Amino acid sequence: MNLLRQAMLVGGIVLVALPLAWAFLPRGTVPGAVAQPVVAPVGKRIALSFDDVPRGPGAFYTPSERTARLIAALRASGVEQAAFFANPGRIGASNDGAARLAAYAAAGHVVGDHSFAHRDLRAVSAQAFLADVDRAEVWLKGKPGYRPWFRFPGLNQGGRDHAKRRAVVDGLAARGLSVAWVTADGSDWNIEGQTIAARRAGQAIDEAALRDLYVETMVQSADFSDALLRRVTGRSPPQMLLLHETDVAARYIGDLVAALRRDGWTIVTADAAYADPVYRQSGDFDSANGTLPEAIAWQQRLPGPLYYARNDKPVADRLFAERVLHRTPVAALRCQVKRHPWRRVCSQAAFAPRRPLPLGIAA
Ligand SMILES: [Zn+2]
Repeated sequence: MNLLRQAMLVGGIVLVALPLAWAFLPRGTVPGAVAQPVVAPVGKRIALSFDDVPRGPGAFYTPSERTARLIAALRASGVEQAAFFANPGRIGASNDGAARLAAYAAAGHVVGDHSFAHRDLRAVSAQAFLADVDRAEVWLKGKPGYRPWFRFPGLNQGGRDHAKRRAVVDGLAARGLSVAWVTADGSDWNIEGQTIAARRAGQAIDEAALRDLYVETMVQSADFSDALLRRVTGRSPPQMLLLHETDVAARYIGDLVAALRRDGWTIVTADAAYADPVYRQSGDFDSANGTLPEAIAWQQRLPGPLYYARNDKPVADRLFAERVLHRTPVAALRCQVKRHPWRRVCSQAAFAPRRPLPLGIAA
């Protein structure tokens, strides 16, 4: 997958501005033509989703504080309904998990299934995977805000293993569960992981820079997916942004929502987004291990980058080091590209403090 992705990356993007060309075509009246009603163009729409509830400790808050801040910020930003995807196997006395999920639902948000123990489909059989889904459903079904939506851990639907994916997707359908695709992914979990690692290492965190990096990355991931989804579907369905239930989200979600709106996005409910038929995909895919537009693009053999560049962990880590820690990498990072928050992040020892500028030269 990674080699293929790299091959796609060197292909470059070819975008044809057909809508722009259309705008400059002469407007004439065709004799005999029936007047068509004017249809207002549909703007960019996006819903928010937060995975891995209850997620582990972050760099800033207690678990309960995180939830309270996230709910308050969503309310203050006018976000009517986000989706929270739960791992009931992670609920324990120390993390207030059940109370946190209840609080999100009480605030008007909805709750979906992210499996009981967050197992990667690569590591288990289809049968064992579905058994884990069943354990989660026993806990979730009937709870306030429940939706019959299943989000694959790590977005991994079996990659290129078509038979395994088919067995799991058919098993989900037989249980009345639909696949809760995401369309936009900026690897926010990695920004959270880098922040935690820096805090534990006692490194100074430039919090304004952290906010700006988080907001900029998520907005860019949404715009990347908007362009790709338009290419593969010929229209602009409502997007589903993947975020995680993190301290950085609790701290900066209001800034992110404001930035999305400034960028032309309308925030819609998760219900509204998933009502679009683009999310009801019943066919097979060459590869399904990422976002929906990426999976469709692989199927269509499209050239060009099929996923947002900052989902490559070394790229994201370098940006974090330079902008948030004001450090410069001293050697190439030897992190594999990871897609999942539970895995170890790169060692901050790979970074050295930025060299002081010579006297008399303004920064
Ligand atoms: Zn997850």
